[in-house]
Amino acid sequence: MTKAASFDNALAFAADLIAIPGLSGKEDDVARRLFQEMEALGLADVRVDDAGNVIGVARGRGDAPAAMLNCHLDVVAEGDHSEWEVPPFSGELRDGFLHGRGAMDIKGPLALQTYAAASMIDEAPGDVIVAHTVYEERGGLGMKHLLESGSVEPGVVIIGEATNGDVCIGHRGRAELEVVLTGVAGHASAPERAANALDLLSDVLLAVRDLAENQKSDELLGAASIIATMVDVLPQTRNVIPDQVIVALDWRILPGDDHESLVRRVREAVEARMASVPDALGYEVRMATERQVTYTGIVADRDLFTPGFLMDPAHPVVGAAARAVGRLSAADQAAEVRPWTFATDGGWSCGVHGIPTVGFAPGEERFAHTNRERLDVEEARWGYARYPGLIAAVQTALN
Ligand SMILES: [Zn+2]
Repeated sequence: MTKAASFDNALAFAADLIAIPGLSGKEDDVARRLFQEMEALGLADVRVDDAGNVIGVARGRGDAPAAMLNCHLDVVAEGDHSEWEVPPFSGELRDGFLHGRGAMDIKGPLALQTYAAASMIDEAPGDVIVAHTVYEERGGLGMKHLLESGSVEPGVVIIGEATNGDVCIGHRGRAELEVVLTGVAGHASAPERAANALDLLSDVLLAVRDLAENQKSDELLGAASIIATMVDVLPQTRNVIPDQVIVALDWRILPGDDHESLVRRVREAVEARMASVPDALGYEVRMATERQVTYTGIVADRDLFTPGFLMDPAHPVVGAAARAVGRLSAADQAAEVRPWTFATDGGWSCGVHGIPTVGFAPGEERFAHTNRERLDVEEARWGYARYPGLIAAVQTALN
């Protein structure tokens, strides 16, 4: 017998998930628990892919384009437990809120999406794919892998990152770049025998400021922004002239920027400031990278790059979603449509793969990644009730 797809069961499942820690790359226990639940709910084709993403399908009654519901399996670190009012892995219900790490980012919405899909088996206009992905909190390796693998082919994606009941249609992306300055190390007592990599630092910082004053802007997403955030000097010894200096840059980018264009623009700005560089000194501009290892064993040296995206507010899916969701405060009005301030896996689905993507979930952005993380139970109940209408509306809008 399959488990009943009710809000109360979804909430209990969310509490179970909160009790299972799982940072990026360590999502195995969460994945295992989700796999069991998807089977118990009667989803079809439940599976775990190479990257560790967990996927299942609620078969629809018709052949409308498939809608994919997406949350992520990982959470960010909980920090010092004594700083939490309610223990981070308690999943406790208190004062009308579900508490703990992941309550709203994103195990609460993950449970609601999964249950909402199950409630639409044989009823949705088309298949509803439930695909919860790994490594979202570190740039979206899971979603990138899922879409590149071709194992799912959604016509539309609904992301469960907190929107506080609004419909979200995009966000800026993020890229981390490095300017590496090189020289010749030497004893600080004999500068004539060395070439100080730090000599180029001031020009780099000025170049970044030049670039910062020359950023694109978007009416809805706001302006792109770039800033230097860290300088590493090697070797780290105060009586040695350094032969390597790495300047880290954080760039909040607009949709359409890719690795090559970002690197080129920094290089051009640096070149403009450095008319002549002494022979013994040099510089290189590159994307910052990080080694990521999935719990299934995939190893990837990844550029720290999360694409942005923006749906046209006039796209049929956006209007259909806003009307289907309505407002918690005024059911007869369409939901507010806006971008998120943070980045999501929608950058991959829409920004890179061009699949119409919207976000809808209960929860307030301000609690994400904090030690006060919580999900309002009544708002979650409302959001759960809105999901079937939302899924049907976006599938129908595409037909
Ligand atoms: Zn999230």
